Amino acid sequence: MSRAQLELHIDFARCDGRGLCTELLPELLVRDDWGYPVGRGGRDVRVPEPLATAAQDAVDLCPLQALMLRRVTRA
Ligand code: SF4
Repeated sequence: MSRAQLELHIDFARCDGRGLCTELLPELLVRDDWGYPVGRGGRDVRVPEPLATAAQDAVDLCPLQALMLRRVTRA
């Protein structure tokens, strides 16, 4: 059975690593040694439904449009 999962994608070609999103989504993101956001659980940042609104806020507030929310379907 497949299930849609909300994921946060970070476009590192746009991101400047100032870390606003890590302040908005500390449950999901931390900063690496250079200040860039990385998922607490690894490269794929899965967004639990209770954090969907906060994740959308982070997308909307990213000054460089470097964040994107998308639904992915996994088997
Ligand atoms: S808010 Fe946007 S530009 Fe700033 S660190 Fe996060 S992804 Fe990068």
